[in-house]
Amino acid sequence: MIDMHCHLDLYSEPHKVVNSCRQKNMYVLSVTTTPRAWSGTRMLVNGNDRINTSLGLHPQLAHERYKELDIFDDILPKARFIGEVGLDGGKNNRRHYKQQKDVFRHILASTQRASGRIMTIHSQYAASDVLDELENYPDACIPILHWFTGNKNELKRAILQGCWFSVGPAMLRTKRGRNLFINMPRDRIISETDGPFAMFNGKPLMPWNVNLVFSVISKLWGESEKAVQERILNNFRNILKISKNVIV
Ligand code: MN
Repeated sequence: MIDMHCHLDLYSEPHKVVNSCRQKNMYVLSVTTTPRAWSGTRMLVNGNDRINTSLGLHPQLAHERYKELDIFDDILPKARFIGEVGLDGGKNNRRHYKQQKDVFRHILASTQRASGRIMTIHSQYAASDVLDELENYPDACIPILHWFTGNKNELKRAILQGCWFSVGPAMLRTKRGRNLFINMPRDRIISETDGPFAMFNGKPLMPWNVNLVFSVISKLWGESEKAVQERILNNFRNILKISKNVIV
C-alpha cells in the first residue's frame, strides 16, 4: 500500500501512526508544510526507508513562512521529495496570492537547479496558474498534482505537461472527482490519503485507509482490485526511476 501524500506529523499521536505504517509495511510520503518542520518530521521515521519525508512550504502558509526559503534551500540537497507546495486561489487565501506565487517560483527555480525532484503539489482553485508556473520551469520537478480539482481543460493541459496525479478516498467519493479521475492516464496515478486533513465518514483518514480507493478504482477501470494495486505499485516504481534517471 502506498500513501503518496500524508501529513504524519499532524496526527495527534504520530509515533503510533508511524508504528502502524511500519507493521503494515506501507510506503508513505510524509509531507511537511514548513521547511522548519522537515528535520523533526524526518526524525519521526528514523530508520524506516519506506517512509520518506518531503520538504514543503504550503501555499496557505507562504505569507507567514517565506523567510524559511533560506532553510528550504539549505535542506534541498538532502531532500529528494518536495511538498506540500503550490498555489491556493481559494477566497480565504487569495489575498496572499502574490506572495504564494513568489514562494512557489523560488521553490521551482531552486529545484530546477537541483534537478530530479518529485514534487507533490497543491493546486486548489489555482490549477491554471500552477500549470503556468510549471511551464515556466519545465525542468523543475516531476510534478504530482495531489487531489486535483481543476476542470477538464486544465486536466488535459496537466496531462500534456507530464503531470502525475495522486488520488484519495475523499476525492473519489465525489462525482466530480471520479469524472476527472477517469480521464487521467492510468500509468500516472498514485494513491494518497491527505490525512489527517482529509476526512472520510467524519473521521480523519489514516494512511492505511488508502485501501478505500482500490475498490472504487477497480469499478471505474474495470480491473480487479489486485490489478489496480499492482498498477499503482508499478507507477510508483516508475516515478522513482524517472527521478533517479534525471538526477544521474
Ligand atoms: Mn495536504
